[in-house]
Amino acid sequence: MSAPETLNPRTMSEALTLLAEAPASTAILAGGTDLLVRMRDRRNWPERILHLGRIDELRGVDQGAEEISIGALTSHSDLLRLQEQSGWGALLAQAARQIGSVQIRNRGTIGGNLVNASSAGDLIPALYVLEARLVLCSSQGTRELPVAGFFTGAGKTACRADEILNQVVFSRPAQHEKGLFIKLGQRRAQAISKVMLALWYGEEQGKLVNVRIALGAVASTVVRCPRTEALLTGRRLTSQVISQASRIVQEEVQPISDIRSTAGYRRQMCGVLLVQALEHILAAS
Ligand SMILES: Cc1cc2nc3c(=O)[nH]c(=O)nc-3n(C[C@H](O)[C@H](O)[C@H](O)COP(=O)(O)OP(=O)(O)OC[C@H]3O[C@@H](n4cnc5c(N)ncnc54)[C@H](O)[C@@H]3O)c2cc1C
Repeated sequence: MSAPETLNPRTMSEALTLLAEAPASTAILAGGTDLLVRMRDRRNWPERILHLGRIDELRGVDQGAEEISIGALTSHSDLLRLQEQSGWGALLAQAARQIGSVQIRNRGTIGGNLVNASSAGDLIPALYVLEARLVLCSSQGTRELPVAGFFTGAGKTACRADEILNQVVFSRPAQHEKGLFIKLGQRRAQAISKVMLALWYGEEQGKLVNVRIALGAVASTVVRCPRTEALLTGRRLTSQVISQASRIVQEEVQPISDIRSTAGYRRQMCGVLLVQALEHILAAS
C-alpha cells in the first residue's frame, strides 16, 4: 500500500477544485480522530487525502442577530468556550465537554463528528434540537440540508463524495430558551455513549414551550420524540407529568441491541435520562 498523496489547500475554492478532480479516491481530513483510526486499521486507505486544516474560513462561530453559523472545522474545544453563552452555546458546550479527552477535543471537529455519522456522535442530538441545517459545497454549487435529513443510516450521510461540509447553521433561539444534554456511557470519561439525550425548551408563565427532545445511540440515527414533546408542551412540570413523559418516551423509542447495550436497558435509560432532565428544570424554576 503506497502512502496517499496529501493535498493542503488554503481556501475552500482551491479545496473544491482539488476534490472535483477525483472525488471517489479522495478522503477529506479534518482533525483525523476518526479517519486516522480507520486508516490505522486499514478499513479505509484512500489514494489522496484532502487536508482542510489550513482553510481558516472553515473555522469559528459567527453569531449573527438572526442566525448562528459554525464553521465545519471548529473544534470541540472551541465549542467548550461557548459555555458562558446562554441557551444554544451552553448546550453545545455541554455536549462537547463529554467528547473523548482534551487531546481529542482539541483535534476533533464539529464537521468530522457529523460526517462520520456515528449513532453515538455526541454533538448530533444537540444539533437536532437546535434544528440545525448543514451547508454542503461542491464545485457545482451549494446546498443546505436539515440535520435530520443528512443521516441516511449508521455511518452514512447524504454528503456526496464531491462535497465538503462548510457550515452548520441554525436560527438564533429566543433569549429565554435553554438546552440540556445528558450522556450515559460505560464510564464518566473516554466512553462512547450508550444513550444520550438533548432537550430544548422555553418557559412561559410556568409552562413549557417549544419542547424538543432528541435521543442518540438508541437507533442507527438520532431520533426526535414527537409524542413526548407534544405531551410536555404547554404543561406545568409536576412529578405526575414527569412520570407520564418518562412512560411515553419509553413507548415511542425503538432501541437497538449492540455490543454496548441491550434494547431493554436503552429503553429504560431513555426514561431515566428524561426524568433527570425534567427534574433539573423543575428544581431550577
Ligand atoms: C480516543 C477517541 C475518543 C473519542 N471519543 C468520542 C466521544 O466521546 N464522542 C464522540 O462523539 N466522538 C468521539 N470520538 C470520535 C471523534 O473524535 C469525533 O467524531 C470527531 O468529532 C471527529 O472529527 P475529526 O475532525 O477528527 O474528523 P476526521 O477524522 O477528520 O473525519 C471524520 C470523517 O468525516 C469526514 N469529514 C470531516 N470533515 C469533513 C467536512 N468538513 N466535509 C466533508 N467530510 C468531512 C472525513 O472524511 C471522515 O470520513 C473519539 C475518537 C477517539 C479516537
